[in-house]
Amino acid sequence: MTQAVNLISALAGVVGTTNIITNDDEMLPFLVDWRGRYRGRAQIVIRPRTTEEVAAVVRLCAERRVPIVPQGGNTGMCGGATPDDSGYAVVVNLGRMNRIRGLDLDTNAITVDAGCVLADVQRAASEADRLFPMGLGSEGTCQIGGNISTNSGGTAVLRYGNMRELVLGLEAVLPDGRIWDGLRALRKDNTGYDLKQLFIGAEGTLGLVTGAVLKLFPKPTAMATALVAVHSVEGALRLLSALRGTCGERISAFEIMSDSEMEIVLRQIPGTIKPIDATAPFYVFLDLADSAGDLDLAGTLERALANALDGGLISDAVIASSSSQAAAIWRLRHSVSEANKKEGVSVSHDTSVPISRIPEFVRRVSSEMASQYPNARRIFVGHIGDGNIHFVALFPKSLADDLDTFEKAALSINRLVHDITASLDGSISAEHGIGQSNRKLLARYTDPLELKMMAAIKRLFDPLNIMNPGKVMPDVLDGEISLET
Ligand SMILES: Cc1cc2nc3c(=O)[nH]c(=O)nc-3n(C[C@H](O)[C@H](O)[C@H](O)COP(=O)(O)OP(=O)(O)OC[C@H]3O[C@@H](n4cnc5c(N)ncnc54)[C@H](O)[C@@H]3O)c2cc1C
Repeated sequence: MTQAVNLISALAGVVGTTNIITNDDEMLPFLVDWRGRYRGRAQIVIRPRTTEEVAAVVRLCAERRVPIVPQGGNTGMCGGATPDDSGYAVVVNLGRMNRIRGLDLDTNAITVDAGCVLADVQRAASEADRLFPMGLGSEGTCQIGGNISTNSGGTAVLRYGNMRELVLGLEAVLPDGRIWDGLRALRKDNTGYDLKQLFIGAEGTLGLVTGAVLKLFPKPTAMATALVAVHSVEGALRLLSALRGTCGERISAFEIMSDSEMEIVLRQIPGTIKPIDATAPFYVFLDLADSAGDLDLAGTLERALANALDGGLISDAVIASSSSQAAAIWRLRHSVSEANKKEGVSVSHDTSVPISRIPEFVRRVSSEMASQYPNARRIFVGHIGDGNIHFVALFPKSLADDLDTFEKAALSINRLVHDITASLDGSISAEHGIGQSNRKLLARYTDPLELKMMAAIKRLFDPLNIMNPGKVMPDVLDGEISLET
């Protein structure tokens, strides 16, 4: 008890008493994940403002071997930012570190604090006539540090890549409190290992990201958005291929949603409207964008979709005639997680398979689920252009009243989906990460040598295992650092 009081007063000395939270009720929002699946406890939530403050906090925790849970906007899907229930951890929330540090137009780069909200970075880029292309349904809340630590994806990966490809440089506080200044804005740098890549996607297990240099792109001057009804997943892929022929790299988003999901979004999200009459098994959301002058992209898209309609690839389509119509179309896509949360309890997956094998994935999962879980609604939604499909099995909320039955069903559905994924040479986590949800699955579906290399890296950076323990690395690897077979 005295030790805890000592730590809390030492931490208050670093950030000031107004920037620590120790009261259980006030801590609650920081201790529950966005989906409400995980609830933890902590001795304190601390909100530092500078890299030096973060470093001092980490040093104080490291001296006492107190676990640290880094937290950004707390929108993660795998419980990575939620502490365990021991009540021993310190949650370090980066929300107050929200400065845009600089913007270099010639380099096309922006340097930001890790606690900047993604939408604020998009806005800062736009005001400078540039584009920061990462776009997620959570962009009004999630933070750059969280995006980096989960290697987030979203709707623009098809053209611009995921977070891993958008980061030029990083600043991080290591688990012993040292500050690593890797804030380089270089497009080319072959001086040894690319250390920043270790922190990207590490989910806070190797250190705390405090700042980043991010790539910017020319701001599009012409845009066209469409919602397209397609007969099948194969049809959606054939449409993508046809559009690549006519529109090339102007395709900046190409997303799919099953009708089962469309129906839920329309019911659960007030003000949403389906701007297309046809009912089809699947819908495609697509954007074309170009920054070379005032092109008629809507005309280009109209011709391409008319050809697709004539060729029987699609059954209907609507092209947005204004930016507010485009926003209304994309609102349908971005409301998926919120709508599903309102509608029921879901067992969801973040699968990636080679793009050509998506139809087989959808077919096999649908057929197995129909025979084994006929009472689950089968939803497919995701970034089909990246080979990333989220399969969601949705049950009535009442199922969660019997937690045991729900957990058993969830485990067996996970197994069913992931076994199919593995047989198609896919990945069980395309963009959401491992967190606490997928640790056992990581052990089951990853090559043992890869796991050993990961464990060795973790031990090298964090020998005391204080940086987000219980996340990512499976328990089976505790104490195992040798790369020998
Ligand atoms: C409505 C909705 C839509 C979404 N859509 C997408 C999508 O399309 N694509 C996608 O990829 N994800 C999506 N997500 C998931 C989520 O928004 C992303 O994973 C996002 O990158 C998490 O950022 P965050 O700041 O909320 O991180 P948090 O949830 O706070 O943390 C996530 C992980 O990163 C670690 N972390 C956070 N900040 C730091 C830091 N500064 N240093 C070290 N570690 C840190 C945490 O410990 C945790 O392990 C969606 C979520 C919601 C709620």
